[in-house]
Amino acid sequence: MEHVIFLFDIDGTLVRSAGIGWRSIQEACHDVFGEIELPGLELGGRTDHGIFMEILEHLQCAPASFLPRLIEAYHSRLEMNWMRPDFEVLPGVEELLEDIDRHDWAIPGLLTGNSRQGARIKLERAGIWNSFRLGVFGEHDRCRNNLARRAVPMISQHLGSSHSFRTVVIGDTPADIHCARAIQSFVVAVETGFASRESLQAEEPNLLFNDLREFSLALFQPSLHQ
Ligand SMILES: [Mg+2]
Repeated sequence: MEHVIFLFDIDGTLVRSAGIGWRSIQEACHDVFGEIELPGLELGGRTDHGIFMEILEHLQCAPASFLPRLIEAYHSRLEMNWMRPDFEVLPGVEELLEDIDRHDWAIPGLLTGNSRQGARIKLERAGIWNSFRLGVFGEHDRCRNNLARRAVPMISQHLGSSHSFRTVVIGDTPADIHCARAIQSFVVAVETGFASRESLQAEEPNLLFNDLREFSLALFQPSLHQ
């Protein structure tokens, strides 16, 4: 049986928060370094580790001694901040995950710049962490395209070599579309994050939705004759 692996981004795709991620990064830096001036950072589509490495480069600090401390402080802050009410599970997410769960050929996974721990904090709070069967996370690589490349052997290992599969990457930023292209994946873009419709359209995703309520699983069902 051919399987279809749905690889979801998290922020802006499954859940949305009012700046909790950025606030947690700022607080973690304060916890480790005290009062410092942070550089202006582009967060969308980035990996957590990429963001922290950029901060350490800006501060001219050695990653070997500071990166683990910074990430630990970030997880503590994220856990506290994510308990606040200002986050939401995006429209259509729960219904789509339930629909995927009803079909043997459909497998839900994560392809995210969040660390595994950060992803778990966010998605446990959202009540959907246990919906995902596999994942590649921010600590696996600083570059999102490489994260996508790492997903392919992980899926092969998960399924066993006798099963064929296709991937569908689902995300809210141009970076999600680029990483899907890096593995020749079908890609669905959603407008529930910070990226504008125009900026997503310019990257030519296979499908572009207002939100995941428009996502029909039937579109991806493998042919019975395969
Ligand atoms: Mg995102």
